[in-house]
Amino acid sequence: MTARILDGKTIAERVREDIAQQAKTLSAQGVQPCLAVILVGSDPASAVYVRNKVAACEKAGFRSLKFDYPADAEPAVVLAKIAELNADSSVHGILVQLPLPPQFDEDAVLEAILPTKDVDGFHAENFGMLLQGRESFYPCTPWGVMRMLQEENVKIEGAEAVIIGRSNIVGKPMAVMLLSKGATVTICHSKTKDLTAHLKRADIVVAAVGRPRFVTGAMLKPGAIVIDVGINRLPDGKLCGDVDFDSAKQVASLITPVPGGVGPMTITMLLANTLLSAQRAAAK
Ligand code: NAD
Repeated sequence: MTARILDGKTIAERVREDIAQQAKTLSAQGVQPCLAVILVGSDPASAVYVRNKVAACEKAGFRSLKFDYPADAEPAVVLAKIAELNADSSVHGILVQLPLPPQFDEDAVLEAILPTKDVDGFHAENFGMLLQGRESFYPCTPWGVMRMLQEENVKIEGAEAVIIGRSNIVGKPMAVMLLSKGATVTICHSKTKDLTAHLKRADIVVAAVGRPRFVTGAMLKPGAIVIDVGINRLPDGKLCGDVDFDSAKQVASLITPVPGGVGPMTITMLLANTLLSAQRAAAK
């Protein structure tokens, strides 16, 4: 078997066109979606992520605000900016780029953002809402995976889903989202005893480990749907995922590439959440 490629780039383009259209309609009614991004320090990867987010906003017709702080910034200064943005009704989404320098308490910063403007979906209140199956802002990467599966009409109900990784931003919310659609979900992690035994019965595999080519074809059930969240930089500068694409595509039925799979969907869902926040604000 050779797997079909699940092309996140094409899906992301389609979804972003739809978002841009809706943003145009909303702007014509006097509410232009607006995302505020806060960057602390000069980590090159973070700077690229922020630049991409701002560019995506502009392309979709959103207003974007960017606030830069030096690596030795006082947490109180950043918290004061968050409070100011919380109070500004023209701002619909607030995002603090992670990781933050060591003098910051990341949880405290994320929870300073109003849950109604937490378009990253990282606030504990929004995570609790997700757990309870209530409307909130869902974390963008797993939410993007769900959108890809939906676009491909993947049957989730009754499927055995195995997620590798238990982070708060990918693994755990991914498990909750698949569970809410009727999958039987297993979360594997660094202490899991026999990962292959779990993978061998998985209809859907989501790899979010952060280890290059960690999951090989030999570990998969024939016909599995394989979603590779990993983004790893190799010594030669190229990007690769957590899945060994060449061997996995011989066994899987559907597989996401890296780059061009989950990555483009993450910013897309950030735009979707910001639009949703603006629509909620306009409806008030
Ligand atoms: P993380 O480091 O917080 O979590 C990694 C997880 O992998 C941990 O829960 C750990 O238990 C598990 N793990 C480590 N070694 C393991 C092993 N030997 N067997 C089984 N599990 C093991 O990472 P994260 O923030 O969830 O990110 C995971 C990957 O996804 C990274 O490569 C990251 O760059 C990427 N990522 C991509 C996007 C995107 O937009 N595509 C977004 C977020 C993260």
